[in-house]
Amino acid sequence: MNYSLVVNGFGNAFLQEFGCPCPRCARKEPVANVSVSILGREDDGRIAWHVLVDVGLGVVNSLRNTFRADEARVDWLLFTHWHPDHSLELNRLGETMRRTARRRGEPFSRIPTWCREGTGKWLAKNFSYEWHRCLDGRPTKESEPPGTLLDPVPLGAKGIAITPVSVSHAGADISAENFKERRYNCACFVVQTATKKTALLWDLDGGNTWIANPETEAQRKAVRLLSGADYLLLDCFSWSVEEVAGFGTGHLSFATAREFARALRPRETLLVHMGGHEDGEGNPGWGWTDRQWEDEALKLWRRDGLPGTVRVPVLGEEITI
Ligand SMILES: [Zn+2]
Ligand SMILES: [Zn+2]
Ligand SMILES: [Zn+2]
Repeated sequence: MNYSLVVNGFGNAFLQEFGCPCPRCARKEPVANVSVSILGREDDGRIAWHVLVDVGLGVVNSLRNTFRADEARVDWLLFTHWHPDHSLELNRLGETMRRTARRRGEPFSRIPTWCREGTGKWLAKNFSYEWHRCLDGRPTKESEPPGTLLDPVPLGAKGIAITPVSVSHAGADISAENFKERRYNCACFVVQTATKKTALLWDLDGGNTWIANPETEAQRKAVRLLSGADYLLLDCFSWSVEEVAGFGTGHLSFATAREFARALRPRETLLVHMGGHEDGEGNPGWGWTDRQWEDEALKLWRRDGLPGTVRVPVLGEEITI
């Protein structure tokens, strides 16, 4: 089996805002929330296995644009967390996969779904119909703090391992039962094949200081696994602002993303979840297009001698992993 990763989306939570005059919101080309597909292809190129990570807005259109109708399959669905920009197209995905099965005259099997326990509670609450009818939910039974390696996803596939690592993402670390209570709900993923390592590190806040300064043995283990990746998909929500009116944005600014990349030493960093609105009109980051993000990021990457290269992905690109 040959493994690859397809970028289904890398946009921020609201993609393009109704009423925002910035150049980023004015774009007419397709956009989608952050999501990737991990594919197993046979030697003849046939897709034998498809893991989808997150299913926010625009993701089903991306899948439709990338794959032929006869290639439609989803063998596992993985959630980094429950936020709407990572789950809003759950209905569309689940129902169209059911309809595809019917069209093919095959029985529909609910999609095996990995998430952390707290995220499972949110999904079962927000998407009760889809959770019960379309998904075979397999939430973890833990609430480990950020910087902990969790058990690998039981994929049942040869030559690939996906290991979740708990991260803090303040806006999502809320209990579904009591909004005032804090729970650890979020994860990032490390995908390992025989030859490549890929770290999917999005939707985390600057409070994940364990990445640059691990203190416990558990944190050092997590950092070791995240380190030296061939590809690091890294949250980069704003250029420099991480707090607005005293509240954290829940995401990394490019300033913190740089620190994390320096600590993790990837070969190639791909910036995802870029927004820039919080930087404020007229400031660096605000309204920047993907190419501007890439150009400006690359300048500082070179100036500071950061590891490897940095770029912004292209929608639908496929990377061999
Ligand atoms: Zn998000
Ligand atoms: Zn805008
Ligand atoms: Zn989020």
